[in-house]
Amino acid sequence: MGWTRRGTMAAMSAAAATSGRAATAPAIFDAAVIGAGVFGAWTAWTLKQAGLRVALVDAYGAGHARASSGGESRVIRVSYGGDPLYSPMARDSLAAWDALSARQGLPILHRTGVLWFSPSDDEYMKKSLAWLETSGLPHKAFDRAGLAAAWPQAVFREGESGFLEQASGALIAGRGVQSVVRDAGLQPVILQAGPPRRAGDAYELAPGLSAHSLVYACGPWLPKVFPDLLAGRIVPTRQEVYHFGAAPGDDRFTPAHLPVWADFNNGDLVYGFPDLEGQGFKFAFDAHGPLVDPDTQSRQPSPDGVARARTYLARRFPALAEAPLIHARVCQYENSSNGDFLIDRLPGDDRVWLVGGGSGHGFKHGPAVGRLVADHVLDPGKPVEPRFSLAAKAATQKREIY
Ligand SMILES: Cc1cc2nc3c(=O)[nH]c(=O)nc-3n(C[C@H](O)[C@H](O)[C@H](O)COP(=O)(O)OP(=O)(O)OC[C@H]3O[C@@H](n4cnc5c(N)ncnc54)[C@H](O)[C@@H]3O)c2cc1C
Repeated sequence: MGWTRRGTMAAMSAAAATSGRAATAPAIFDAAVIGAGVFGAWTAWTLKQAGLRVALVDAYGAGHARASSGGESRVIRVSYGGDPLYSPMARDSLAAWDALSARQGLPILHRTGVLWFSPSDDEYMKKSLAWLETSGLPHKAFDRAGLAAAWPQAVFREGESGFLEQASGALIAGRGVQSVVRDAGLQPVILQAGPPRRAGDAYELAPGLSAHSLVYACGPWLPKVFPDLLAGRIVPTRQEVYHFGAAPGDDRFTPAHLPVWADFNNGDLVYGFPDLEGQGFKFAFDAHGPLVDPDTQSRQPSPDGVARARTYLARRFPALAEAPLIHARVCQYENSSNGDFLIDRLPGDDRVWLVGGGSGHGFKHGPAVGRLVADHVLDPGKPVEPRFSLAAKAATQKREIY
């Protein structure tokens, strides 16, 4: 994985521009963040807020179409079956996304609400509802009749019930990440970085671009940068997302009439969005697809996937069963073994951090992850959260976090 001439020159001029030095002088930043996805962008933002000189580096740019953080929308919800780590992180991140939307004057967070439904005996759902009740966050529970009355455009089965997180909703993904970078006043350096290379008391990413601390927030590319350490521990899987178009004049699938929804289905999760910003009714299956390479995987939806999506629509949203597929995206999850994030030092290198393992649920947590990683960079003695540690990342996929 070498430097490109374009990347090196861009690095030098961006570094020089940020530092105010002549283009030939080397720039040594306090920290360089490699990866301008949601984790890297919020990490760079937080470090910048703390007064550090920060370089943000990405092989393709911020929030691009191949990144796990690219595309239209992501669910932001606070329910996590009462998980003591992720529910508070999501709650705190919700406030940060809201503040970013206000500062940037852009719709990044759409507070549509998030409707969960499942068979009534589901333990995860019961724990989520209990957490919402103690947290004081606005929510409302529904039995099957209540669900059917509130959302007649969906079919709810015998024995199902649900609840609505009223303050949650959807984040606009690519635009959201680009807004974080803009809000930080950063311009990503286009450069494909390799593993850390020491140069005196700093690390050199390219001639003229060095930093005292490095944060590798490379999402599904982490195992390509650190193959010996992370291959098999961070596993990129293909995920298809479908956008269907309702009939002209049919407003039942717009945010005024339908929230973001999650059909928990005993962990075989399907989730979707109302027609946000004219992009159609979007939904996806959360189950992990085949292993892929994020640089080269096909971004065309598979005929099997589209057929399966139509079968689901016929059962759950029958008015859309024959609706045209107006748009589709193929992305990838970057799964850790159980779905917990990776936030830990590179073994033997205290000033190099590995950040990733968003595992299909990371986007919403960008602000909280950025805060935690920045705290580690600023306070090298801060202990690593055991669930985020490298040691906790097994080589066998056994998903536990939803
Ligand atoms: C289809 C889909 C639906 C999802 N739905 C949700 C949801 O509803 N809610 C939710 O919270 N989360 C969701 N997620 C998960 C979430 O989007 C991801 O966990 C999160 O975006 C990962 O962000 P990241 O910054 O770790 O990785 P990325 O966004 O992939 O960013 C990594 C960046 O690193 C750069 N990079 C990699 N290697 C190098 C290198 N060597 N040099 C320079 N740059 C490099 C890449 O170009 C990329 O920009 C979903 C994910 C997908 C794919």
